[in-house]
Amino acid sequence: TDTATLGAQGHVPADLPTRIQHYVDGELVDSADGATFDVLDPVSNEVYLQAAAGKAADVDRAVTAARRAFTEGPWPRMLPRERSKVLHRIADIVESRDARLAELESFDSGLPITQALGQARRAAENFRFFADLVVAQADDTFKVPGRQINYVNRKPIGVAGLITPWNTPFMLESWKLGPALATGNTVVLKPAEFTPLSASLWAGIFAEAGLPSGVFNLVNGLGEEAGDALVKHPDVPLISFTGESRTGQVIFGNAAPFLKGLSMELGGKSPAIVFADADLEAAVDATVYGVFSLNGERCTAGSRILVQRDVYDEFVERYAAQAKRVKVGFPHDPDTEVGALVHPEHYDKVMSYVEIGKSEGRLVAGGGRPEGFPAGNFVAPTVFADVPPSARIFQEEIFGPVVAITPFDTDEEALALANDTRYGLAAYVWTNDLKRAHNFSQAVDAGMVWLNSNNVRDLRTPFGGVKASGLGHEGGYRSIDFYTDQQAVHITL
Ligand code: NAD
Repeated sequence: TDTATLGAQGHVPADLPTRIQHYVDGELVDSADGATFDVLDPVSNEVYLQAAAGKAADVDRAVTAARRAFTEGPWPRMLPRERSKVLHRIADIVESRDARLAELESFDSGLPITQALGQARRAAENFRFFADLVVAQADDTFKVPGRQINYVNRKPIGVAGLITPWNTPFMLESWKLGPALATGNTVVLKPAEFTPLSASLWAGIFAEAGLPSGVFNLVNGLGEEAGDALVKHPDVPLISFTGESRTGQVIFGNAAPFLKGLSMELGGKSPAIVFADADLEAAVDATVYGVFSLNGERCTAGSRILVQRDVYDEFVERYAAQAKRVKVGFPHDPDTEVGALVHPEHYDKVMSYVEIGKSEGRLVAGGGRPEGFPAGNFVAPTVFADVPPSARIFQEEIFGPVVAITPFDTDEEALALANDTRYGLAAYVWTNDLKRAHNFSQAVDAGMVWLNSNNVRDLRTPFGGVKASGLGHEGGYRSIDFYTDQQAVHITL
């Protein structure tokens, strides 16, 4: 049977649930109409559980609970220090369960287990970080001596709707839950339908940490149903969304009649620019990691590599050789560097780009299914060289282990190529020329630039994109700003 195959080749976590419910007002509940949807694992592509498929009625129930917890419950009125203690307990519990979380995440999403473990730890850190930030929070006071004092009174807003994608799902949920809760809001989370498994652990973690009932609610379901109902619910004044740019556009439109606060973290097609004077070995290592880690299913993936002509041939040769050494394997295997893509639909999309790429560029590594993996959503790390900027694989987000390499001659040409997409999330710049490094970084259309650096996050810095990659920045106090109202109080002396 397939389960036997899985048992032999893949890995089935112990005590895997066979159904997942919603979590409303401290209770696990089914959908009002009893509807469910299938969840597959990406190695066997077999249905392994049924998740409750939330509709408008279920979302309404969750929002009502969250609204009551906001207007009547203790959470928004607690001292920041008290909320912070609960958040620290959440972080400790998450950290103490990192192995289990990683096992479930890896099984459900296909992420390599070692990388899933890193994401679980980062989720704990997200709670710690915002727990500390709200305690340290200072707000402005403006004085006109002898005449007036004006101060800022920061208030939680209400029920925050959190809508998250399937890539690194648990970590990205924590990135929204941490600041939304730290600031005293109550929440309804709608996790991605491809990967609801790790999110099902939140209810137990929050209850154990002492979060009051109704503060955290979770509704599973499809984007067009549960997500849509959350966006259109009049008692949800805030929507924090991470996902595709196309979905972001739909949500913008749907939220407009309600004049909601929106934070949008969207897609990317981020360039890595390698100048001839760069440390080539470091650049090859980092750009290989930058697009193949997390299976290439990473919003900030450096999926276009622009290389200066003087070192182009050498770079392509070294890059292709290294890409061929990247170890594709079963997600649970600690040696695996690229696992299985999340879902057969996504696999088909990525594979269609691999085929398109064959007529748009020169294939130098990968190009299809890796040997030894006749089933499951496995794609060999794929590298196309000589890709012109008009190519679809240069312009469109593939969100898999596929990279396009393009040569350039001058700094101006590199900048024009870097900016020649609708996206503007991240950029990676490799050069040893200090002046060029800073000038280029400042000119490139990207919300975040990593200079001679791997993608390493500092949670205090702004996170977000420009152009079609998003609107609004989170990270550090920007997250606190998004989840609070800053009321100005004016006093005449
Ligand atoms: P997606 O847009 O398909 O779905 C994201 C979430 O939105 C899911 O929970 C989905 O159910 C929900 N949704 C879908 N349609 C909806 C609707 N009409 N109304 C309300 N909710 C709806 O994205 P995905 O495929 O899950 O995630 C991959 C995308 O996310 C990529 O484009 C990636 O670049 C992007 N991403 C961006 C960041 C960032 O921080 N900028 C981070 C991670 C992922």
